[in-house]
Order: sequence, then C-alpha cells, then structure tokens
Amino acid sequence: MIQDNIESFEQALFADLGKPRWEAGGEVANIIPASLHAASQLEEWAAPEKPQVQEWLQSWDPTVYSVPKGVALIIAPWNFPIVLCLLPLIGAISAGCPTVVKPSETTPTCSALLATLFPKYLDPEAYAVVNGAVEETNVLLANRWDHIFFTGGGNIGKIIAAAAAQKLTPITLELGGKSPVIVAEDCDVELAAKRILWGKTQNCGQLCVAPDHVYVVRSVAPAFIAALKKAYATFWPKPIFSPEMEWGKMINSRHHARVKKLLDRSKGTIIIGGEVEGDQRISPTIVTNVQPDDSLMEEEIFGPILPVLEVENTDDAIKHIAALPSPLVLYAFTDSSKTKDKLLQQTRSGSIVFNDVYSQMSVQQLPFGGFGESGYGAYFGKASFDTFSHRRPFVNVQPSAEPLFAARYRPYTEQAYNVAVGGMLRTKIPSA
Ligand code: NAD
Repeated sequence: MIQDNIESFEQALFADLGKPRWEAGGEVANIIPASLHAASQLEEWAAPEKPQVQEWLQSWDPTVYSVPKGVALIIAPWNFPIVLCLLPLIGAISAGCPTVVKPSETTPTCSALLATLFPKYLDPEAYAVVNGAVEETNVLLANRWDHIFFTGGGNIGKIIAAAAAQKLTPITLELGGKSPVIVAEDCDVELAAKRILWGKTQNCGQLCVAPDHVYVVRSVAPAFIAALKKAYATFWPKPIFSPEMEWGKMINSRHHARVKKLLDRSKGTIIIGGEVEGDQRISPTIVTNVQPDDSLMEEEIFGPILPVLEVENTDDAIKHIAALPSPLVLYAFTDSSKTKDKLLQQTRSGSIVFNDVYSQMSVQQLPFGGFGESGYGAYFGKASFDTFSHRRPFVNVQPSAEPLFAARYRPYTEQAYNVAVGGMLRTKIPSA
C-alpha cells in the first residue's frame, strides 16, 4: 500500500500539515521496514514459550501461548496522521486481531485517503477505517473491544480510559508531555544545538517526542546559544516564510492561537524567530532567560518554540525535571558516564536518550511508550505483537501425577501439613 501510493500520502500530508516531501515521504516509508521486521520475526514471536521449570513439573508441559486478544480499536491523532494509524496496526495484524482504525478528523485528507486505500489492500472483513470526530468516537467506544490503542493528549486519554474501564477493556495510552533536554558542560555544544534545533522543528514542533525545553548548564549557555543561532542560519538561510524554505504550518488556527498565546505571555527573551504569518504559521523561535514559572513551562508546547532555561549543573536540572510530570522522553547531551548513570537512576521518563533526539524510535527492538503521565503500555517490534496478544498459560496434568497430590485432599492431617506446608517452611534460604 505504501509503495504503490507514496505520492498520494505525501500530497495528503502536504494538504493537511504543509509537510515538506522529505519529511512526509520519510515518515510514511518507515512503515515498510517496520512491517517487514514484524513479518520476518512473527514465527518466533508467536511460538509457544516453554519456561524452565523444576524437574517434578516438567511432565505438566508448562507452556505460554500468545493468542490474539480479539477485536481491536486504534484511535489516532492528527500530528502523524498516517503512521500513528499504521504502526500500531502492524502489531494488531501480526497478533491476529481484526481492527477498526479511527484516524483524526483534524487531518481530513489523510483520513479520507486511508479509508479509500484500506479495502484495496486489506481484508475488509477484518480491517476497517471509521472516520469521524467526537460523536463517532463515542459510538465506537460504546461497543465492546478487546483492546483499545489510543495515541493523543492526556485529557482525551482520560476520556478513553474511563470509557474502556466501563467494559474492563485493556488499553494502551500513548500520550505526550514536556520532554526535557539537558545540555551538560561536557558535551559538544555545537552538535547538541544542531540536533536539538533539527528535532524541535520537525513537523513544526508538533511531535510527541519533540524536545520541549532545554536545561543548559550556565557555564556553556553562551556557547550553546551562539551554536543555536549558527544552526538556525544554516537551516534557513532565507526568510522563513519564503516557499523555498519549506516551512510547514500549525495544524489549525486554534493550535496556532494556543502556541502564540504561550509565547506572548512569556517573560523570556526571544533571540531568534517569533514571527507569525496568518493564522497557521509561526517561525522557529528560541526564547532564553526562561524561568520555571514561565508560560512556556505550563504545558506541552507542541509547536516550534524552544525555551532555554539555565541551570547551575546537571543535579539542578534533575531537580527541575522531578518537579514536572513524567515525560515521554528525557534527552541529555553529555559525555560523562557518571552523569549518564545519575540520570538513569534519578529520573523517570518513557525513554532516555543520550546525545541525540528521536534515535530511540529507529530501533524496532526497543519498546516505545510513556511512563506515568506520558502514558502506559508500549509498542514497536515485538512490543506491538505483545500489546495485541494475550499470553495464555497452559499446563496439562496427567492422571499419573496423582501420587504427588496425596497430601492436598481432605481430611487435612498433621502429617499432610508437615509434608505440604512444613516442607516449604523448612527450606534453607541460600546465603547471599
Ligand atoms: P486529536 O485531537 O487528534 O485527538 C486524538 C484522537 O482522539 C482523535 O482521533 C480524536 O477524534 C479523538 N478524540 C478527540 N476528542 C475526543 C473525545 N472528547 N472523546 C473521544 N475521542 C476524542 O489529537 P491530540 O490529542 O491533540 O494529539 C496531540 C497529543 O498527542 C499531544 O499531547 C502529543 O504529545 C500526543 N501524541 C503522543 C504520541 C505518542 O506516541 N505517545 C504520538 C503523537 C501525539
């Protein structure tokens, strides 16, 4: 489907999000290696597992079978309107779950394209697209599902989770949050600035794993800010809104107004950008001298604004991060293994990435998902298969095992107690 229709996908993403062809094509083409990875690994993932057990249990043949959970519902947001429908669908297909996909009403061209293509490439008895907004989603949610996979913001996530709870339906919540970046004194600040600015401006900052804000250690702050300016001048040598700069747009005027308001209320200093055109375009903007109580720190920015907060050292950054809800990703640019260990031990986040942004998502073998307020459950690679599978344990106890059970039947005797319970109580605990 992707190979036959790549141009239609690119055009739809341009129509809905103003996405440059490079970004749109790259985003959608990623479905191909992800699908092939699942296809090549499926036999191994689905194979019955035989856990190692004590000798006396072996005749029971303990096994875990991965079985399809049943009928799944995937609800996707607008910011990556194609891949956030199709990536989880790879998991549902590989696990054997018939699925309804509900794309976002906010990206109508992409949603309509998916609805047209699905029946041409997938068995319509098993896979369907249902398009619509809140009302239609509520109708879907009133049905019984065996798994709901939701990607979107935390507030809607709560509505979906509450609806799922009515029917005790298992659910995956892929949410967002304010993913921080630490720039430590021992990193290559030029490279850090280039990678962060590139990451912040993908999809105009409308990315769940976007670097939301930066904590830069004060001693390297001037060098980091100079490097951001240099990277900006290289990325956009001409006025940002000129067509050849291929700068995309905010999804709609509501989100544009929300981001603009956060910027207007900020007490920080705009050192680059801050330009607005019409009601959907806002330039990449870097704001320094930002304090923790600034408007830009109130919520996930989800736009191309990068606030830079200065900290004394990485310990100081860790304190700031601990005061905010658990993010989807924690990024840190540092060469010090001591700092890396400290961050691994003293912070919480869905993923943790050193010295780059987004690279965690290139590794199919790593589960992707949030933690705490950034969601629960995970997918990608085997984690997708597991998400849509139930691990069903199995034992087969032969009649010949009966002598083992002599002590379990009534009437309970002192001797039976000594055999069954006493045996465990007398177990020698191995010394450490
Ligand atoms: P959105 O507004 O498109 O909503 C997501 C889905 O929920 C849509 O399909 C929509 O129809 C449905 N929906 C909206 N309101 C509803 C309601 N009241 N009841 C039932 N369904 C409803 O997208 P959004 O929430 O604005 O998405 C942006 C958020 O998603 C950001 O917070 C971002 O960080 C997060 N996100 C997370 C990931 C991830 O993988 N963790 C990926 C992308 C986006």
